[in-house]
Amino acid sequence: MVSGVKEITIALAGNPNSGKTSIFNALTGAHQKVANFPGVTVEKRFGQKKYGDYDIQIVDLPGTYSLTAYTPDEKIARDFIIDEHPDLIINVIDSGNLERGLYLTMQIIEMGIDVVIDLNMWDEAQSAGIEIDIDKLSLLLGAPVVKTIGNRGQGIDALLSAAISLKENREKIHRHPPVSYGFKLDDVVADLSKQVSLCGGCKACQNPRWLAIKLLEGDPIIKKQCFEESRPTASLKSRLDSSIGHLKKTTNQDPETAITEGRYGYVAGIVREVAKQLPSDRMRLSVRIDNLLTHRVWGYPIFLVMMWLIFQSTFKLGSYPMDWIEAGVALVQQWAILYLPTGVIADLIVDGIIGGVGSVIVFLPNIVILFLGISILEDSGYMARAAFLMDRLMHFLGLHGKSFIPLLMGFGCSVPAIMATRTLESQRDRIVTILLIPLMSCSARLPVYVLFAGAFFADHAANIIFSIYLLGVVASIITARLMRRTILRPDDAPFVMELPPYRWPTILSIMIHMWERTKIYLRKMGGVILLASIILWFLGYFPIKSDFSQNYDSQIEQLIKSPTETSDIQIAKLKGMKASEELEYSFIGRLGNVIHPLVTPLGFNWEMGVSILTGFVAKEVVVSTIGVLYHLGEEAQNLQTILSNPETALTPLSAFAFMVFILLYTPCMPTIFAVKREIGVKWMWFSVIFQALMAWISALIIFQGGKLLGF
Ligand code: GDP
Ligand code: MG
Repeated sequence: MVSGVKEITIALAGNPNSGKTSIFNALTGAHQKVANFPGVTVEKRFGQKKYGDYDIQIVDLPGTYSLTAYTPDEKIARDFIIDEHPDLIINVIDSGNLERGLYLTMQIIEMGIDVVIDLNMWDEAQSAGIEIDIDKLSLLLGAPVVKTIGNRGQGIDALLSAAISLKENREKIHRHPPVSYGFKLDDVVADLSKQVSLCGGCKACQNPRWLAIKLLEGDPIIKKQCFEESRPTASLKSRLDSSIGHLKKTTNQDPETAITEGRYGYVAGIVREVAKQLPSDRMRLSVRIDNLLTHRVWGYPIFLVMMWLIFQSTFKLGSYPMDWIEAGVALVQQWAILYLPTGVIADLIVDGIIGGVGSVIVFLPNIVILFLGISILEDSGYMARAAFLMDRLMHFLGLHGKSFIPLLMGFGCSVPAIMATRTLESQRDRIVTILLIPLMSCSARLPVYVLFAGAFFADHAANIIFSIYLLGVVASIITARLMRRTILRPDDAPFVMELPPYRWPTILSIMIHMWERTKIYLRKMGGVILLASIILWFLGYFPIKSDFSQNYDSQIEQLIKSPTETSDIQIAKLKGMKASEELEYSFIGRLGNVIHPLVTPLGFNWEMGVSILTGFVAKEVVVSTIGVLYHLGEEAQNLQTILSNPETALTPLSAFAFMVFILLYTPCMPTIFAVKREIGVKWMWFSVIFQALMAWISALIIFQGGKLLGF
């Protein structure tokens, strides 16, 4: 302590969507994902802040409504508080939802940890006509209360200085008021806490009152710690049983419900003391909008139209920058051909690196636009309405509306979507949702669709792609229905869906969203896709063939020496034939030969077969594989033109079957690992095999059925 630097840890806790991440960003200056629905922050995030002579470590805990241990999120938050003992907690509350926020506050206070109350979204509460008496609230809670506007960074300094002065014991109001549950419960709790303090064995015993409440609530983890992992006194055990029996008799409820109700009652009392709400026009307008957007009939077409608009703009607007990037890549390629000395290295750079990475990078605009659309819908609060709307549909699948958000995130990337299922309480719901997520077409698959739909369905490309996405949704509905009937039957637990207020999305938050996506895409480009392209190129280049079925070189020379009218065409044809013989002889050609019989019935050529295998690395690699395979030996040319060339023997039907295959088969390594991490190795294999089978069978039906119908 010579330098006088003091280190403290502050944890941010609060309901989902209370603006915790915005506060975290404002405190640390870090860029985090900011989203307008519950369940995005599934893991703790860390940041640093210097303040005076304090070095503050700030932790963003997952958003929760409670500190019971029913969901993994709640458990993460609670374990952090118990195990890591942060010096204090900043409890972020949405001022417009004071009651719900305080429910969590009560539990934090009960844990005996120092807390600063952050009344965030103060601006919204104001415009909704809500008045909160801050001084009184502070007095009742025995904690400093600060108002903030997180997304604009207002009140952050006051928040920090309140935290530090609390830490330095300069807050007069500071105390830990016991939360009262009404007299019936309070007596029992007091009695049981005495028994707990007499026992004293495990970590949690440091806070007897809290432990007593948890035991009465029947918290499974605390019970296990208390009764299985340590040795409680016999009197604690018997007193717990008799207390529970006593409560059941006197309150006519099970203790858990009684405690929940007691807590709500306490909170309601506080709210009545400190808050006053005036009816406002803004509220009424948003209720009217809600009525339309979540309408049991109109809600669905509105949702579909919104999605369709996003896809149209993704494709139509994206095609302009796509052309520019494509031209740029071709230019670089020509330049490289011109200036690099011919040889293996030049081939590697031109065909392997520029060809492979270039074929994927052209889809960057599509992805940026897709995420622009999704960010706007998320930040405005529409996605939460969509989730509400989908609740009914989800019940039809044997799931809850809450599963809709992870499923929706699946359209971006399966990996974070799979992690977002941690907000679901029921393990069965988690398994079903995780199995369905890969059927939501992730953005990595978009390049494949854009390539093939553009090559074979030029005029209807956007609609074809939209139909592929819909097909994924249909496949997931069928899958969910099947599972509901067979291996995973639903268990019914009630829960409440809530509607956050509408907000104008801020340009900054949308920009951060888009930039984060773009960054991920670019990083993939420079990492796994670059590497895969190089490896693929090697596999396609070696071993070098020396014996050919005919002497191409001398024939070409002949044609050059004595040119005829058609010699250009003939030369190109001979070069092409030579290149394809070389490719067939290469490692990748041999691999293609092995896999070819498996994909022939689906109407795919061997190049597509190989790309399906390499696509396990990441779905973008499908495109770079095709890019590398078709560019080997060919003149620099647009990949779509090459694909629709009759020589590839592909038809719109086989292209469609291929897109469906790409949609349905196992997404990629990172997804497989994520599934394993979340629900275990058994379900991982189930999902891999199930999806591969489904993809193969669906493509078979489409191709063979389409042929029968004469497509
Ligand atoms: P978290 O899920 O609890 O971490 O909340 P976020 O930080 O993701 O915030 C959710 C949304 O509320 C984002 O769109 C923020 O821009 C917005 N937001 C955060 N704080 C405020 C605030 O004080 N006022 C208003 N109007 N919006 C806010
Ligand atoms: Mg957050």
